[in-house]
Amino acid sequence: MKDLKELVRPNIWSLAPYSSARDEYSGKEARIFLDANENPYNSPYNRYPDPLQRELKTAIAKVKGIAEENIFVGNGSDEAIDLAYRCFARPGIDNVVAIEPTYGMYRVCADINDIEYRTVLLDEQFQFSADRLLAATDEKTKLIWLCSPNNPTGNSFDRDEMLRVVEGFDGIVIVDEAYGDFSRQKSMRAELAAHPNLIVLQTMSKAWGCAAIRMGMAFASKEIVGIYNKVKYPYNVNLLTQQRALEAMKDPFEVDKWVRTLLVERTRMVQAFSELPICEKDYPTDANFFLAKMTDAQAIYDFLVDKGIIVRNRNRIQLCHNCLRVTIGMKSENNELLSALRQY
Ligand SMILES: *Cc1c(COP(=O)(O)O)cnc(C)c1O
Repeated sequence: MKDLKELVRPNIWSLAPYSSARDEYSGKEARIFLDANENPYNSPYNRYPDPLQRELKTAIAKVKGIAEENIFVGNGSDEAIDLAYRCFARPGIDNVVAIEPTYGMYRVCADINDIEYRTVLLDEQFQFSADRLLAATDEKTKLIWLCSPNNPTGNSFDRDEMLRVVEGFDGIVIVDEAYGDFSRQKSMRAELAAHPNLIVLQTMSKAWGCAAIRMGMAFASKEIVGIYNKVKYPYNVNLLTQQRALEAMKDPFEVDKWVRTLLVERTRMVQAFSELPICEKDYPTDANFFLAKMTDAQAIYDFLVDKGIIVRNRNRIQLCHNCLRVTIGMKSENNELLSALRQY
């Protein structure tokens, strides 16, 4: 890995971050807060929330088995994705490399930040090769994006192949594990200590059932977390979100139950799809959705919309011609989808 100083945008490296009232003073003994121009009435919503979400991070650290100093909490993982560009990649100069197809936000944030976005197509089995990814990099490549299990293909990538990328690249490798809670594979979080150029993203939006509160996490070296904290909005995670996320973190067993139920349903749905005459192929999945190649994705999509059932049409995505992406719902919802498709 290059020195962090060489990887971070120079203006960010030298940035003196905004120092809020809550940054300059935080302590339990204080009784009277006259420092932040808050209204003294309407507790607890009158007070600015903890900019570093300390209580929440203590809970995350326990659940994830990781030190608090290695945790960044953001307004969804989307914030952590955008921050990667804003911290590391110089607009109009640097580039990033990503697999294709994958999650659309990596490209959108690259475009917003005016960063060249290079893609390397997956193979027909939706796998990638470390050598081909590394061959797409040059001295201006700051980030490599991996997503495992991958969206929209659903498959996990081989851990050793991902490690070859991490070890073979002198910039930052980001592995997005938004669907990691559904996967049989061990999290790349376990590799952080040995690999200071790795960032692992996770979210409360999928298995944790909290998409509405907007809470995502990045796990990384404490130096990278420090850079992220310098650039983020001071109060990027609001009080209601911190409270609700803390509550959820205290009951991870509920999440385990949901995941077990959804995995049983997933097996049943993939099997049922494989028996539909209008389904040509369903792809192996390690997430709470699966990709299915249909006879005519657009027509089937429209037919379902007409019945009030919305799936994701991935027909126009590379390698996904005629593919629908189907999220696993409740048993009753899944059954409605199946019976609609049997009438098509
Ligand atoms: C859904 C999803 C996310 C979640 O983003 P949030 O901003 O945390 O809701 C992140 N990455 C991938 C690949 C996803 O599919």
